Amino acid sequence: MSQGLVTMSYIAATILFILSLSGLSHQETARRGNLYGMLGMAIAIVATIMSDAVNSYVVIILALLIGGAIGSQAAKMVEMTQMPELVAIMHSLVGMAAVLVGYANFIDPAATLTGVEKSIHEVEIYLGILIGAVTFSGSVIAFGKLSGRISGSPVLLPGRHWLNLGLLVASIWLCLQFLESAETGGGTWALILMTIIALAFGVHMVMAIGGADMPVVVSMLNSYSGWAAAATGFMLSNDLLIVTGALVGSSGAILSYIMCRAMNRHFLSVIAGGFGTESGGEAAVVEGEVSPIEPTETANLLLDARNIMIIPGYGMAVAQAQHTVNELTKLLRDKGKNVRFAIHPVAGRMPGHMNVLLAEAKVPYDIVYEMDEINDDFPNVDVSIVIGANDIVNPSALDDPNSPIAGMPVIECWKGGTTIVLKRSMASGYAGVGNPLFVMDNTRMLFGDANDSLQEVLKILKS
Ligand code: NDP
Repeated sequence: MSQGLVTMSYIAATILFILSLSGLSHQETARRGNLYGMLGMAIAIVATIMSDAVNSYVVIILALLIGGAIGSQAAKMVEMTQMPELVAIMHSLVGMAAVLVGYANFIDPAATLTGVEKSIHEVEIYLGILIGAVTFSGSVIAFGKLSGRISGSPVLLPGRHWLNLGLLVASIWLCLQFLESAETGGGTWALILMTIIALAFGVHMVMAIGGADMPVVVSMLNSYSGWAAAATGFMLSNDLLIVTGALVGSSGAILSYIMCRAMNRHFLSVIAGGFGTESGGEAAVVEGEVSPIEPTETANLLLDARNIMIIPGYGMAVAQAQHTVNELTKLLRDKGKNVRFAIHPVAGRMPGHMNVLLAEAKVPYDIVYEMDEINDDFPNVDVSIVIGANDIVNPSALDDPNSPIAGMPVIECWKGGTTIVLKRSMASGYAGVGNPLFVMDNTRMLFGDANDSLQEVLKILKS
């Protein structure tokens, strides 16, 4: 393929990626956004394979077959609840690719660059490996935390801020050493030492982050993986990879910012780690009487209600209750009830988790509201149904300054009539914090798997 055609294809792919991102920002257009993204990626892959950069089709096709087979198998096997872990481990692969490409570039015997160009290329290699290594080890730890293999509570080393600063200074010093030694064909030791430091930094950074702040880390690692890809693009002189990496990097950074704002956190405090754990006091212990409820009484309360709010959380994903939720919503709306959904920005285990599940079950978009849009409306709500949510409806975030989630905005369902909480036990949520909502006077607990409980309620309502 001629260079002109490759460039044209890259421009087309870039436009499709931008259209894809804009499509993905609204539920109504998300499917189209995905299609644009797939088309753009297909064009990008074909154009790259056909370009002069590739000299062995056999190796490329073999790699495509192996990678494609592993990818499609993983996509088939993964449960919806394991999606966040899958995303985290995918990010780690991008980081690893950047590290490997960096080393391959460094030892490339065919490299012919000289002077300033050579120095710039060396900086690219250094930064590519640095970002890649942080992304790799940080994502592996995030995978461990999200899958429950590693405890969600923060691991805080003494003097950790100084440690981080020390690692940063060491990386800058090593960069200078690397550039100096590389002039004379050396520098391997500086590169290896920096890689070890970057790997250690990634582990330290994510280990220090407490349960409820994980969403920010997930989107931040998404951003890092974009920058790692962009760095790879610089090393390989591939414009499309630079553009794509920058798109992922900047959209991930914007998402991290939005997440921080939604959780009332400062970005730097989250990155520095252990946020919300330094208040000094102990979080209040939850005491009081729990008032259970049965499906029959739940059905009666719903029949008597006019305004109903559904608040889904991670438990809805575990129970795969979204289709039953949709059926219940339809039935209640047919009976003239005003049914709406309140979605917390960090509900579930990945950004947009609840929206994806509700869209999959075909819940109409126009009755799904963001927390900020709906929180003031709770005094008008007769019955709220909390489906497998816990941290996102925890009042202690607002009134207990010692709570690990203090300051995080939550859905204030207790301001409405009756709140019915569907969960299996009194166990705490991801952040490991007790929830005073469960013992409030106007709260009733419907114990059991959320899908089973909703099926029961549905059966009673239909009969
Ligand atoms: P939580 O993890 O706080 O609570 C989920 C609740 O669901 C649990 O208390 C559990 O209680 C219940 N549950 C689990 N399985 C079932 C089931 N089959 N049927 C009924 N209930 C069930 O989830 P939330 O959505 O309220 O909050 C999300 C948390 O995850 C926040 O702390 C957030 O910071 C964090 N997080 C979010 C990410 C994101 O990007 N959105 C990423 C990483 C972390 P029980 O065991 O008693 O049934």
